[in-house]
Amino acid sequence: MRIIVTGGAGYIGSVTARMLAKSGNEILILDDLSKGHREAVKGLDLAVAQIGDKNKVKQVCGEFAPQACIHFAAKSLVAESVENPLAYFQANLGGSMNILEALLGVECKVFIFSSTAAVYGEPKDVPLTEDSETRPLNPYGSSKLMFEQVLEQTARATEMKFVSLRYFNAAGADLENDLGEDHHPETHLIPRVIAVALGKEPCANIYGTDYPTPDGTCVRDYIHVTDLAAAHALALERLARGGESGIYNLGNENGRSVREVVEEVKKVSGRDFPVKEAPRRPGDPAVLVASSKRAKAELGWEPKHESLEDIVRSAWEWHKRHPDGYLT
Ligand code: UDP
Repeated sequence: MRIIVTGGAGYIGSVTARMLAKSGNEILILDDLSKGHREAVKGLDLAVAQIGDKNKVKQVCGEFAPQACIHFAAKSLVAESVENPLAYFQANLGGSMNILEALLGVECKVFIFSSTAAVYGEPKDVPLTEDSETRPLNPYGSSKLMFEQVLEQTARATEMKFVSLRYFNAAGADLENDLGEDHHPETHLIPRVIAVALGKEPCANIYGTDYPTPDGTCVRDYIHVTDLAAAHALALERLARGGESGIYNLGNENGRSVREVVEEVKKVSGRDFPVKEAPRRPGDPAVLVASSKRAKAELGWEPKHESLEDIVRSAWEWHKRHPDGYLT
């Protein structure tokens, strides 16, 4: 299949693009390289363009004539979205609509969207199902939810089919293809704690120890990046064989606390390091855990890396190999 992968030089996008290329698809990455890495797409075709550049997006889609799109390109920093909501709606809603419009123009009918557990906000009950209430706590989550609604309405009015994948906490590395997580700034727990284990930062911070959870720290559902990538391939297959549009949670259905993650990094790395208890980070829900029953039943998805140890170990190995990310 000819597949355009927007944001394909980023963390989850690069792992997915490589997996799809290896299984024989023709891939074109569209990425502005503002956050993505050229090193992560070596050997794949790359169009350097912003999704906000409507004419360029139209030109690239016109020339490549994709049969499917996987749309990762987005701004994804929650705190930044709170400070600058417009930039988030412009990129994640406006930019995404540019892609959608260009695809409709070339009769591309398969759209896989990179969505997020942030669409739920503060859950009333966990595990979260796709039917749980969606009340995003920040512009990032809102912008993703709004574009899901754009997709639903477009699918009703056109022949376009979509799958929206709501990721829980993506983590780990694709060691086989030497792809890992390299964000600047890095805000995510596992790579931040690993940076401390590698001696690049003085101490790990635990944001909030007074949450209503067993050990007082936030609980998240960590899911390995290659398991996420596999779900995109399955979603593509579903739509390609005429399956219906749908929304799917992607998580391990297993909540782990911040303290547990810090301990796991110590165990896997064999290194001890200072840990500081810090105030809560604004906008963090206490617990986010997925029910992924629907993805398992309808996509045939089966995560292969369920243990936190597996996930942390792969991240640790990649960061040890690349202490300065893709620069090393
Ligand atoms: N967190 C932390 N210290 C850090 C980074 C994150 O305690 O240095 C916490 C954060 O407050 C949240 C959890 O770890 O409760 C997961 O955060 P992350 O940014 O990795 O993912 P999010 O759940 O926000 O998407």
